[in-house]
Amino acid sequence: VVTISNVTKAFGDVVVLEHFNDEFKDGEFITLLGPSGCGKTTMLRMIAGFEKPTSGEIKIDGTVVSSNKTFLPPEKREIGMVFQSYAVWPHMNVFDNIAYPLKIKKIPKDIIHKKVMDILEVVHLSQYAKRIPAQLSGGQQQRVALGRALVAEPKLLLLDEPLSNLDAKLRESMRYEIKEIQKKLGITVVFVTHDQVEAMTMSDRVFVINRGVVQQVGTPYEIYSKPSNQFVADFVGKVN
Ligand code: ATP
Repeated sequence: VVTISNVTKAFGDVVVLEHFNDEFKDGEFITLLGPSGCGKTTMLRMIAGFEKPTSGEIKIDGTVVSSNKTFLPPEKREIGMVFQSYAVWPHMNVFDNIAYPLKIKKIPKDIIHKKVMDILEVVHLSQYAKRIPAQLSGGQQQRVALGRALVAEPKLLLLDEPLSNLDAKLRESMRYEIKEIQKKLGITVVFVTHDQVEAMTMSDRVFVINRGVVQQVGTPYEIYSKPSNQFVADFVGKVN
């Protein structure tokens, strides 16, 4: 469970996110949807621990990770993350890329081997373990990044526009794969996108954000059938 209480973020005088409040339940697929610059990435970076809220509090599973008194760095938050750029190590093969987060934790080799083999299966890369990223397609590289984010068994996975560098066809199949993985592992996902179709097809709940303010929270059906204001109606009704 991720509890966000009255979180506001300003850079200097510019407020980029105002009074964000909610609770993401275990196993929920949450999407932060909005146009470029609306503050969605900033919210994700605060959950991850790359940014500090200006005010408010964030809790993960009951532990305060950010408040005016406490700040837990990203590596202490046990979160998996995948970003828009694949960010896989170019000189390491697929196996070693995925094993990396376990190696730095000094986990015994045989356990690492088992966990990596299991994750390779989950992300459908078992046959590619020995390849280096340059020998893989964009979608496969993004699956390596996903595998690396999942191998330490986080309960929370943060995804920042992970599909936006992929072509349309691959994007569609990856949507389905991410959903499948999420259900299989039972993890909570917070997904950032400006793509209405991604938000509508993948999410349990969608937060529509504009200029740092949450405009509406609801299931895709609620948002689509009962937009709470003109912005939501225009933004969600628009097809890329
Ligand atoms: P995009 O989809 O383009 O990434 P976004 O909705 O994720 O957009 P954010 O990246 O959260 O938006 O940025 C929100 C606002 O905060 C933007 O106006 C951005 O310019 C500003 N901003 C983000 N990071 C910083 C920073 N480190 N210093 C100053 N301003 C920042």
